[in-house]
Amino acid sequence: MSELLGGSAGERQCVVMKFGGTSVEDAAAIRRLCQIVKGRLRHRQVAVVSALAAVTDQLFAAGRTAAEGKLETALAIVRDIQERHLRIAGELLGSDEGDLFFKDSVHDFRAAVALLRSISAARDFSLRAQDHLLSMGEHFSSKLVRAALVRNGLEAVWVDAKECIITDAAHTRATPLCDETNRRLQILLAPLLQADRIPVLGGFAGSTLDGIPTTLGRGGSDFSAAIVGAGLHAKKIEIWTDVDGVMTTDPDLCSEAQRVSRMSFEEAAELAYFGAKVLHPATLLPARRQNIPVWVLNSRNPGGAGTEICGHSRDEGRVKALSVKRGVAVVDVEPLRWLAPELLREVCEVFENHQHTLDLLSASRGSLSLLVTSIASLPAIAEELKGLASVRWENHKALVCLVGEKIRRRPEVASQVFRAIADIDVRMICQGASERSISFLVDESRAEESVQRLHKLFFSEARPGPPVARHALCQSGGTW
Ligand code: ASP
Ligand code: MG
Repeated sequence: MSELLGGSAGERQCVVMKFGGTSVEDAAAIRRLCQIVKGRLRHRQVAVVSALAAVTDQLFAAGRTAAEGKLETALAIVRDIQERHLRIAGELLGSDEGDLFFKDSVHDFRAAVALLRSISAARDFSLRAQDHLLSMGEHFSSKLVRAALVRNGLEAVWVDAKECIITDAAHTRATPLCDETNRRLQILLAPLLQADRIPVLGGFAGSTLDGIPTTLGRGGSDFSAAIVGAGLHAKKIEIWTDVDGVMTTDPDLCSEAQRVSRMSFEEAAELAYFGAKVLHPATLLPARRQNIPVWVLNSRNPGGAGTEICGHSRDEGRVKALSVKRGVAVVDVEPLRWLAPELLREVCEVFENHQHTLDLLSASRGSLSLLVTSIASLPAIAEELKGLASVRWENHKALVCLVGEKIRRRPEVASQVFRAIADIDVRMICQGASERSISFLVDESRAEESVQRLHKLFFSEARPGPPVARHALCQSGGTW
């Protein structure tokens, strides 16, 4: 089976295509999607679909509003979502498909209303209820996309993602159970592909072995596509979005951002981890494990070349992209006595107990510096560590990161970077822990300027010659 789908000689190869929220946002976007699928009929295709743009946020707002007791406001949000789906269906579908879609959607939206009523009655938007409600966005959109494909003469079949992606019960950030998921994918999707059907399923959502809905975390549809691709031994995974590929930096910060034509799994994972929005950070794990190339493509410009993310990188030693993670806070933990290894363990434990993920850690003899993306539980953490260490924090920081395979081996890269932003106050410089990244912290207000200068330095036509200074920089010399 796997060989058939992977494309042994003469067989059509399997491609898993994920369409993000903006690639299904309205009738025009879904028409483009249908054209993209039609243009790839030489392949066996699976479509993994995000919720229509903004719907996940709206569902979240509805759940919160219901939990505050404002049920009518919450119901109005869901009615808006339903009307949007029906309006798009009206534009895309003929009367037969349209009628079927309408009947089905009445049933589906009734389930959303019932859920909001129970959230409102309980005055509690639990993580479990959150997963149930938010996963409905993908449920609605994938049914709409299936109907549009059928209307275009394609043999598309809707498949419930909750039956395919089986996860643990860590609500809002569930992890797939690989063996069970692969088994389901082989049972539910492989026969459809062999019968030349196009399975369409929602991304982001899964369920536990008991059938309780879960989600893979915000932006998780990319991850869904990679899980499906790996489970079916696909030839490639295509992430259809609204930018031309992975860009050298965020085009909103720097208008000169360019498309990166090719990068390695590791470079892309590093970039996603450090805040680039184009891919969910976990996406590349299943793809890398099976060496399935991931393409990032623009559904508004389907003829574009996109970015290929694969097992090897060209241009080692060159900066490939710059990312910025805004809204981070730096936390200084100063031990009342000295920085014993037990204290480090204790600090990590306290953060973990408060479900705080630490992004970066820098240690020196006298103190620890940590990066976090939310300050909500810092007062409680400070209280817990009282007697052991003093905890202070500063927010409104931005983490700037440069990514490129083996840039660590080129000390001149670091010195070029810090010369370019010599007049900007920089903290927590990290170079050396990873072969392929250099990162540092600036005030959020200086982030844009830092990125623009560095972008000019590494990506403008006239790049400067080799710098004079040739020393590596590492502020703390500690463990990262
Ligand atoms: N719809 C979900 C979100 O907005 C998942 C996704 O689109 O990847 O986070
Ligand atoms: Mg996304």
